[in-house]
This record gives sequence, structure tokens and C-alpha cells, in this order.
Amino acid sequence: MGFFKQLLHTAGIFLETAVYAAGTLAAYVGDKAGKLARVAKQAYHDYKSRNFPQEKRDNRSTLGQVNGLISDLEAKRRRNGGLSHYDAHDLNNLYSRRKSLIDEALEFHEMETAKDIAENQGDFEDVEVHENNIHIVQFHVGQAVSNKRCPACQKPMQLQWQRGTLKAGFNDLFWGCTGFYDDSCHKTLRFMSQDAYLFTKTTRPEFQISAGQLNNIVMKPSSQIIIKKRINDLRDEVVEKYLCPVHGVELVLKQKNSAEGLLDLYFLGCPMWNGTDSGCNFVMKLKSAAQLASLLEATTGRGLF
Ligand SMILES: [Zn+2]
Ligand SMILES: [Zn+2]
Repeated sequence: MGFFKQLLHTAGIFLETAVYAAGTLAAYVGDKAGKLARVAKQAYHDYKSRNFPQEKRDNRSTLGQVNGLISDLEAKRRRNGGLSHYDAHDLNNLYSRRKSLIDEALEFHEMETAKDIAENQGDFEDVEVHENNIHIVQFHVGQAVSNKRCPACQKPMQLQWQRGTLKAGFNDLFWGCTGFYDDSCHKTLRFMSQDAYLFTKTTRPEFQISAGQLNNIVMKPSSQIIIKKRINDLRDEVVEKYLCPVHGVELVLKQKNSAEGLLDLYFLGCPMWNGTDSGCNFVMKLKSAAQLASLLEATTGRGLF
């Protein structure tokens, strides 16, 4: 059982919806928020004794090795048009090893969030998202999702919105299977009204204003200069909280060579991208003001303001 699942279970919260954004815990917890905070505190206290920073480093380096071995075998398969029985068996074992390592990586994110909830209990509360505060959902787009599994293939699903929609509305949001990125599954699910209740850190300044107000601020040329300056300093840096759904490694901030504006300029890419078809082509575009806020918060501890 995942860390959040256990935490929620202990707090007496039975979720019908997804816990999206493992790095921030976005899920409806209703009147159990206080209980959840107490449970999070206890769970974090218990977990702390396990030296999890070291476990996290071990997880990362093992994941790196496993990804490397998988890449080698996949390259061999492409070269030879197939694999020997022995290699194929090996590759399957490596895939399942990677899956458990990714689950473990997600648990570290959940754990860090439990720490945040335990230490800043008053900052977290339930919010219901409508058109005018849709940016609260957008803030969490692309962060690792804990328990939303594709009904077709069981891979994790990610929150997305229609391509080319700058001002996404409620009906533009949907869940997409992460199998999309290795072309194994194209399943999507509707974003349901029950997905729109979030337990999250509502004290963020960006959440104190409406989605429209946030957009207006970010569209101002003077704001854009400051935002670009801050984000440019972070180029090629690894961004915590955002994992490649295929490889489980943290994504890296990249800038497009030619862009149509600030909300077309930056994206997060998998470090296993190598410029050829054999590399990982997972990208997460940073195409809303809320995502830029989330990126800045994850990397510098301070959002847009
Ligand atoms: Zn799927
Ligand atoms: Zn990747």
C-alpha cells in the first residue's frame, strides 16, 4: 500500500477520486482534514527514523542503473530485430524492477508532503475548483500522480488539458494514460466533478486571486521580464516533484529555441532524451501561469510572487 493510501486510510478517509500531485497531495478529504494532519505528523515521525534521504539517493542511483540496462537491451532489440530468450527474460525482469522503483520514488514524494502537512497544518485546506479558480488544478498538472491508474493498462494517468488551449476551462481538463509517451496506450478519462475538490496548500499567494487575475498579472510585460529572468537561471536544472512517467527520473527544465510567448517558452523534459528516436520523448509543456508558479516553487521555494 502506498504511503498516502495508508495515511488516508488511517485518518478514516476513503477516496473515490485520484490523489493527484503526489508532491502536494491534491485530494478531497472533507471534514477529516484535522485528523489527516495528526496522522501525517505521526506517520512522518515514524518514517523519519528510516533515514529516508539515504534511501532516496539509493533509489535514484538504482533507478539510473536499471534505466541504463533497459536502454541497452532495447537498443540491442532494435539492432537485431529481436532478443534471445535469455535477454527477453532479463528485460521483463528489469521492467518490473523499474516499476517498483518508480512506486518507491513516488512514496518519497508523498512522504515529503506528509512532512509539509505535519509542519504547516494551517496552510492546508479543502477547496472546490470552478472555472474562476481553475488555476489551482493547473498548478498540479504534470506532478506525479499517486493512485490514478489507467483502466486499460494500469499505468499511471496524468492530468492534462487540450492542446492549444491557453485559458483552459473545466471541460478542457482530462486524464491521459502515461502509456501515451511510449505509444503503448492512448486511453483518456474525463475530469469529473469529484476530481475538483482539492486538499492543498491554499496559502499560496497565487491561490488568493482568481485564474483570470493571475493570467492578467503574468501577461504584463513588466512581470514577464522578472519571471523570465528567474526561470532562465534554472535552465537545465533538475526539478523535484516532476517525474518522467516512463523512467521515474526527475525532469529537467528546458527552453524552446523559438516560442510564441512566455507560455510557450519552457518545458520539462526527461533527462533520457538523446535527440534520436531511441531516447525518451516525454515533455511537459509549461503553458499556464499556474505551472510556472509551481515550477518556481518546486525549485526555489517561492512561487511567482
Ligand atoms: Zn493505459
Ligand atoms: Zn523518460
